[in-house]
Amino acid sequence: MISMVVPELGTWEGKIFVGILGFSWATYMWEEYLAYRQRRVYRENVQPPAELKGIMERSSYDKARAYSIDKSNFSLLEGVFDQIVNTGVMLYGGLPVLWSAAGRLSEWLGFSADSEIPQSVAFVALGSVVNTVINLPWSVYFTFKVEQKHGFNKQTPGFFVKDKIKKFIVSQIISAPVVAGLVYIIKAGGDYFFVYLWGFTMGVMLFFMTVYPDYIAPLFDKYTPLPEGVLREQIEELARQINFPLTKLYVVEGSKRSAHSNAYFYGFFKNKRIVLYDTLLEDYTPLNEDGDAKANASGEEEKKEKKKTGCSTPEVLAVLGHELGHWKLNHVLKGILISQVNLFLVFAVFGSLYKYSSLYRAFGFHNSQPAFIGLIIVMQFVFAPYNEILQFLLTMFSRHNEFQADAFAKNLGHSKKLVSALVKLNEDNLGFPVYDPLYSAWHLSHPPILERIRALEEEKKEK
Ligand SMILES: [Zn+2]
Repeated sequence: MISMVVPELGTWEGKIFVGILGFSWATYMWEEYLAYRQRRVYRENVQPPAELKGIMERSSYDKARAYSIDKSNFSLLEGVFDQIVNTGVMLYGGLPVLWSAAGRLSEWLGFSADSEIPQSVAFVALGSVVNTVINLPWSVYFTFKVEQKHGFNKQTPGFFVKDKIKKFIVSQIISAPVVAGLVYIIKAGGDYFFVYLWGFTMGVMLFFMTVYPDYIAPLFDKYTPLPEGVLREQIEELARQINFPLTKLYVVEGSKRSAHSNAYFYGFFKNKRIVLYDTLLEDYTPLNEDGDAKANASGEEEKKEKKKTGCSTPEVLAVLGHELGHWKLNHVLKGILISQVNLFLVFAVFGSLYKYSSLYRAFGFHNSQPAFIGLIIVMQFVFAPYNEILQFLLTMFSRHNEFQADAFAKNLGHSKKLVSALVKLNEDNLGFPVYDPLYSAWHLSHPPILERIRALEEEKKEK
């Protein structure tokens, strides 16, 4: 029989336990409150607000509203489920159960019973099996019900299954040596192990950032060089204009996954690549081919109805003007710097806390203090309040950067085309344009579309 492992409330471990569980419920309630406020916005704004005139068609507005309501209902249910599971894990000692199962697995594989490194690796592997199984029904429902219903899902069940299995295997291959390295450093690094820990994670991050585009990303999606033509020439011209060291220009077959669209740049120093989703490109996306074929078969009338998705060449350039603005203004570098400073802080605190036995007892570890468990407890639970605040500040930082990148594109002379690209992408992705102010301040890493358009057009007048 499984029984509760709640520590005695008067003790330190009891206080830690109550504090962590209490905070988890407090953030949960706060998130649900914000989601409730945003759901009210969806429900009450049946009529599009006046300022949307010329920005979003009525039919798209209605579709976006229905899509947002479905997504919001889905996350309400998933949120309740997750919160109950997480609480159950704490009340019934899920971590020690998984830890001892990992011990049996690593012993069965021939490692000695007290060897912490293989046990930690097995712990992570078992943990991700459990996670994948628990989340699978949600992921299936979201992809094949919610996204499907609104026309976004392009995955076949076969693609979905293969993709999940590939992701699982690749993430296991990557995480095993990383986990082993972390545990080894904590165990053998001496008093200042947290400095080595920090150096190690930085090295790992740089390594994967280097190999990701050439060796990992192609395992999941097809990348093809953008063919010669007007679009390619103009993108190269844009890169030259602002000294962007463009070496590779790819189109990724995002349409195999979903109809959502995007563009980004990637890479170190003088070796940068730009990746465009095929769904972003009006003349390239297979989603338009379908429509044309059908329209041709059934005459002119339907051709008018079936709208093209994606952006025209000048609009794609405006989008890239924005993306390259992020590069020119060092937004990525600043982001990496912030995350490294933060990681150093977290590791330093971990360095002073990780021998504190009450922390482990609070989670049901009475006889041992596994290093990796300590790392999880400190990073995920002890730092939870800090993480919430940091996340909020980063969201604010990101919104600020988005406005800056928009202004950069505007200075290159793309403001008009950027506005029309934003409008089109918002339509294609069925983004709902109205937000509750509190929800928007807490959650949106990109400013709402109306604010961006206002900013782009405002600055034009100043000129
Ligand atoms: Zn951006």
